[in-house]
Amino acid sequence: MRIIQSEAIVSAVRDACIEACCCLPADVTCALEKARDQETGHARAVLEQLLENAALSATAMRPCCQDTGMAVVFADIGQEVHFKGDFNAAVNEGVSAGYHEGYLRKSVVSALSRENTGDNTPAILHIRLVPGDSLELTIAPKGFGSENMSRVYMLTPAQGKAGVLDAVVETALCAGACACPPGVVGVGIGGTMEAAALLAKRQLLRPLGRPSAEPELAEMEAEALERINQSNIGPMGLSGKTTALAVHMAQMPTHIAGLPVAVNMQCHACRHASRRL
Ligand code: SF4
Repeated sequence: MRIIQSEAIVSAVRDACIEACCCLPADVTCALEKARDQETGHARAVLEQLLENAALSATAMRPCCQDTGMAVVFADIGQEVHFKGDFNAAVNEGVSAGYHEGYLRKSVVSALSRENTGDNTPAILHIRLVPGDSLELTIAPKGFGSENMSRVYMLTPAQGKAGVLDAVVETALCAGACACPPGVVGVGIGGTMEAAALLAKRQLLRPLGRPSAEPELAEMEAEALERINQSNIGPMGLSGKTTALAVHMAQMPTHIAGLPVAVNMQCHACRHASRRL
């Protein structure tokens, strides 16, 4: 058994919050560069600005978007690990420290009173128990321009693959410029309502440019991406060939009577950073 102190968790979460908000992952900037090289006119100019903005924010360690999001935290906990202290409290303390010390906007409010919680907590924490004696933390700040445009469909089994594709394309086209394109479309197919939504969100962490390992899903990803990019919504909605950088799909078994499909929209600020303890 390995003991992890809560102070180590606080530091890891704090640093990952700041890094995620200021430094876009290399696969995202590569995808934006590739998109820029295929565009002309306004679309190209917008992508140039997004890339310049990403470079400046990484150099100055300032957030690449004013909306520094709600802190979604994925924790893969080795089953040989024992925590000294309160794990949930440590994660929230890390988020609070990261958002204060990194001068990141505190965007979290009480759902009904709309009173700001003051430190961007609580984190949205997704825990998975895995073999081993380490802890893997991934922080994915989620802006709500794109989150608001996400959807869950409870399709009938008869709607099948065609229904799934239509749901994905419809969500992306309805999102239009509101989701700050071009970003990633995460899709979770199967499970229950909430399992499909979490599966969709996990797809936003997948490396860009790497299709699903399942040939059937890889084919569906390519078809959905092509249909979305034919819409001419383009970067930031100013028209162009690039409305999405990628569609990432995953599936899991579901009930005989249903076909849940969750579509989680992600903007061009496709941010995440990880720490392993
Ligand atoms: S949706 Fe993304 S790019 Fe748009 S304002 Fe929110 S975080 Fe920023």
